Amino acid sequence: MLAEHSGTSDLIAFVVRHVSCSVCNHAYAADDVVVVRHSAESWVLAATCPGCHTERLITAFDRPPYALLPHMGMDILPPITQAEVNEWARFLAHFRGDLKALLAAI
Ligand SMILES: [Zn+2]
Repeated sequence: MLAEHSGTSDLIAFVVRHVSCSVCNHAYAADDVVVVRHSAESWVLAATCPGCHTERLITAFDRPPYALLPHMGMDILPPITQAEVNEWARFLAHFRGDLKALLAAI
């Protein structure tokens, strides 16, 4: 693990509580998750499944990703159009899943 940063154990605890193996759905223990990279705004963690040994990389941000838009030169975004609202309505009308699945799909 990288040098202990403030929040590292909280972040690993969050992964252990809320993320499972994408292959076999086995839960992770704290010892299965390590920080492989930490920058000023994001973390990359590697979680190794104790069941099937699949490694999964997880990116976490110190702030919501949309807060980074101004730093990406996207500080003025156009208003959402009626066509975009209609497109989302069509997508959501056929979407089956919970909020977690929705966020993973977009
Ligand atoms: Zn697994």
